Amino acid sequence: MRLVFIGPPGAGKGTQAEYLIQKYKPAHLSTGDMLRAARDAGTEVGLKANEYMSKGELVPDQVIVDIIRERLAAEDCAAGFLLDGFPRTIAQAEALDAMLTEKGTPLDKVLELRVPEEELFQRLASRGRADDTPEAIRTRLVGYRNQTSPLLDYYAEKGLLTTIDGLGTIEEIFDRIQAVLDPLA
Ligand code: AMP
Repeated sequence: MRLVFIGPPGAGKGTQAEYLIQKYKPAHLSTGDMLRAARDAGTEVGLKANEYMSKGELVPDQVIVDIIRERLAAEDCAAGFLLDGFPRTIAQAEALDAMLTEKGTPLDKVLELRVPEEELFQRLASRGRADDTPEAIRTRLVGYRNQTSPLLDYYAEKGLLTTIDGLGTIEEIFDRIQAVLDPLA
């Protein structure tokens, strides 16, 4: 299965991604995790990326696209992957399409985890991650609305999008995801 998982910060995407990985076993490609690992390792890319991450801004498209291109070439992606936190802009989505078209391995499904914005701010403010300052949270939510939510139309037009209601217990939400993915597995 080749999947994209889209959701605003605080929607519970990380938790659902873990459940999904455990059940369907795709390679897990979380750009946020990759960038945090690069930052913690003190690599040049990681330190540069952190200047954006700490403010809640998106890292430049070219940086992320290069990271994903390299990661998608790895052997474990051949059997399927879950893109988590990528693409986040139309430019990234177009770059991804070009990569996958070249490989002849198109996406099977794009899942959107939807949670109302009022709820998100509450959840993020209580999470306590280093980039969860109120200012950075606001920047990330506005960034999602302006830069990432246009992807929903982009994928809907391609017939790939399914929206999952992100309110409820972890189990209820994962049941909704399974109802979409089981027929594809
Ligand atoms: P996340 O863990 O997905 O919330 O990502 C944490 C931070 O990493 C984001 O706030 C961005 O600064 C950066 N980041 C992660 N994925 C991307 C992406 N696809 N494009 C640009 N920046 C990203």
